[in-house]
Amino acid sequence: MHLFLHYLFMKYLLGGIKITIYVTFLGLFGGAFFGIILAGLQHSRIRLLALLAKIYVGIFRGTPLILQMVFAYDALPYIGIMLPGIFAGGLALAANEAPFISELIRSALSSVGNGQVMAGETLGLTKLHRSVYIIWPQAFRAALPGIGNETISTLKNSALAMVIAVPELTLRSTQLASSTFDFFSIFFAAGVWYLVLTGAVSLAQEGFERILNHEGIKSNKKYRFMSYFSKNTWRKPEIADSDLKKVVNQVNMQILESRSNYADIRDKAPGNYIEIKNLHKAYGGNIAIANINLTLPTATTTVLLGSSGAGKSTLLRCIGLLELPDGGSMRIGTRTFSFDSSKRSFYDADKMAEERKAGGITVVFQNFNLFEHLTSTENVMLALTSSYKIPNKYARDVATEALNSVGLKSHANKLPKHLSGGQQQRVAIARALVIKPKVLLMDEPTSALDPESVNGVIDLVNVLKGNKDLSIIITTHQLKVASCLGDRIVFMNNGGIVESGTSDNILLNPKNPQTIRFIEAFQ
Ligand code: ADP
Repeated sequence: MHLFLHYLFMKYLLGGIKITIYVTFLGLFGGAFFGIILAGLQHSRIRLLALLAKIYVGIFRGTPLILQMVFAYDALPYIGIMLPGIFAGGLALAANEAPFISELIRSALSSVGNGQVMAGETLGLTKLHRSVYIIWPQAFRAALPGIGNETISTLKNSALAMVIAVPELTLRSTQLASSTFDFFSIFFAAGVWYLVLTGAVSLAQEGFERILNHEGIKSNKKYRFMSYFSKNTWRKPEIADSDLKKVVNQVNMQILESRSNYADIRDKAPGNYIEIKNLHKAYGGNIAIANINLTLPTATTTVLLGSSGAGKSTLLRCIGLLELPDGGSMRIGTRTFSFDSSKRSFYDADKMAEERKAGGITVVFQNFNLFEHLTSTENVMLALTSSYKIPNKYARDVATEALNSVGLKSHANKLPKHLSGGQQQRVAIARALVIKPKVLLMDEPTSALDPESVNGVIDLVNVLKGNKDLSIIITTHQLKVASCLGDRIVFMNNGGIVESGTSDNILLNPKNPQTIRFIEAFQ
């Protein structure tokens, strides 16, 4: 025991630990660097680059690391690259880790659902903001267990650098043991140090997971870090911070002003805020909507009604500029868009996000698409701080007020996974409303909810209908939603509009046999 303790804290072995950590560090960060490049090459449209990446993965996954280390140390000098043992070991480790880290990055990024990105787009976030605030934090959370594993395996693999005479922990233990013959105490001490290092990695991983799960960090602090990438252009209000109403008004004014550059939409938009002409969209050979002509009056609620597959969501996504129609035109406020499938370069995600912002268009989704790594308050704040450059402090006030107004005061600091479907939909509505939309698009907002939550959302939308500056478009296949909320109803089938008119006309006196059949099916 006494000898074991002697070796455990022996300077010679402690020096070996330092080198072990150094080689691991080179392997891991070098591996991350090569891994990111490799991930890019693997998805390159240039076939030759993709092929080279494939060959690289084949070689480095298919040969033993020990050979790669020897190669880096003994063979590279033949082509004029002389590396000290530590760097040769680090390079071989990095090259070996790269394919695994590249795969980790790819699977972590693809685990972030498309709905998350779409929700960011509808809140006016740019590509950079979507990456920084939505995609990478969630991908990092998904990759954490894998990163922990890779760190531990790199740490253990660093012991192989002993074959090229890197004096790390294992080599020093071996040398010490062969001169003292006290194998047991020395290797036991080395084993304990490896356990301490790998244990520290596991603890760090756990700590990160706790932070990302909101269990160990004040949300305020995290958000301050998160909004680092938003340049602030806020005009400081001449009001006391404590006066919540005035702060909310100031924020609202700033949002509306930021739009006025675009098309004087507020003042000049004609009575029909949206006008659609001959819009069509097909996926492959399958026509989703065809020859859609529709005007949507300002400050009314229009329900797109029809059974599943009728084309309602496609039309809604086209109006929300989330989908590029193949042909036709659309006026939103004073902006007119003409679509032509031969000019697809028209569609640029950031340009569309700007147009959406300018037109005051936002979307509430059937599956809510709340940002899963953010609390209710942070979900509501994000568009304010990133798209509209409102400082955190004020954005937080506005978000709190918005959550109060949808009855979620006590759920402000919960993650979406800790909320019921109905509550999540309310957060999504609050998130859409804080950016003062002119057009609120709701895609089957009640389809994923239980009957009581459906009533809650209907009540909430009924309150929103009092806002004379807001046009609402709702897609649904539920007659109850249509009858409770629709001022106008547009009945769709097979990608076309079958019949449209006031709610009473369509629901009580339908003329078209298809509408009659649909309504009768509910009785
Ligand atoms: P609804 O909202 O009325 O249920 P959709 O607009 O979702 O109808 O769908 C209309 C048609 O377009 C359906 O036949 C559907 O399969 C097709 N469609 C919708 N979105 C896509 C897509 N992204 N890719 C391929 N087909 C799609």
